[in-house]
Amino acid sequence: MDLGAIPLYDHHAHALFRESTWRQAPLEPYFGEANDPEQHRRFGRDTLAFRRGMHELARFYECAPNADAVLEARARVGYADLARRMFAQARIGHWLIDDGLWTDLLMSVAECAALIPDVPVRRIVRLEVELARMIEEHDRASSLLTAFAERLSKPTPGVAAFKSIAAYRTGLDIGRPTAADVEHAFSEIRRSIVPGRPPRLASKPLIDAMLWAVLPMAAASGTPVQFHTGFGDPDLDLRLANPLHLRPLFESEALRGLRIVCLHCYPYVREAGYLASVYPGAYVDLGLTIPYASAHAMRTALHEAMHLAPITKVLLSTDAQRTPETFWLAARWGRRVLGDALEATIRDGDLSADEAAGAASRILFDNAAELYA
Ligand SMILES: [Zn+2]
Repeated sequence: MDLGAIPLYDHHAHALFRESTWRQAPLEPYFGEANDPEQHRRFGRDTLAFRRGMHELARFYECAPNADAVLEARARVGYADLARRMFAQARIGHWLIDDGLWTDLLMSVAECAALIPDVPVRRIVRLEVELARMIEEHDRASSLLTAFAERLSKPTPGVAAFKSIAAYRTGLDIGRPTAADVEHAFSEIRRSIVPGRPPRLASKPLIDAMLWAVLPMAAASGTPVQFHTGFGDPDLDLRLANPLHLRPLFESEALRGLRIVCLHCYPYVREAGYLASVYPGAYVDLGLTIPYASAHAMRTALHEAMHLAPITKVLLSTDAQRTPETFWLAARWGRRVLGDALEATIRDGDLSADEAAGAASRILFDNAAELYA
């Protein structure tokens, strides 16, 4: 199946580097989640994703298929022109940007919209980062959380969804801390705060309480909430990033109607697919697994997501950031492995050819378009 004509609704992505940063940035960090410079220096060019990336980029830049040739070729291109060409070839139809990351190095949402004027752009609010920015204005956790939920409950044009990075900070086993525990945790954060600099929030009582303040409001307003699950930034404990920890949220009567998108998922793709098969509010997205895994693993992940999950609840995204090349590569590979996975469903008798074509449109575009309408 050739899915090149179907646009991608990229509901899980980030912003691009400003040009000066892009020109100096090395290639290795674009192909994995390590942040230890030694890992990049000694092993960064040895992953299957990196090697595959060089083969593909060499075709784009018309150079030899190795990192040095790619670096040399891309140094000669104009940045804005490259970004527009790569977004057009990747057929990115919508671009939802989580702008709570590396704010000093990446373009703002408005700058991204101006750079790629054909693609509609909206924001994803990174909850823990947004909350950290408000801590200084409050003396008590109760007033902070009330003000935070109130602020998020106001309809804001340009905001498509919320996102939680609880998996990175304190784990997905979201508890029910007592008010006293939350106030105690808050006062400790306040004591160590540097004026004008929002803290890196890693307090389990505060993050869990924040989620219980925000999620009922998101359920009521119909705002989808993305959760990072499985692998991701290396500050996470992978054992606590299993999406099965989210079961109490799906079981909660108070959160009836809440739609949660499990992002990344690897290696817990089957677990996320299971959740999507039993809870109406659970969705599976494979951004980051695509493009960081081997081609075989990307194809397997798509199969695994569809083992149980309805095809109307499986999504693709790029989770791309920093360089237009990550959007281009992730979109190409996403379509390619989706085509392979759907061909297998035709061979196996799961879907007819027409149904598989419909599933491709749903997974690349329509599922997200409905979810973030
Ligand atoms: Zn992500």
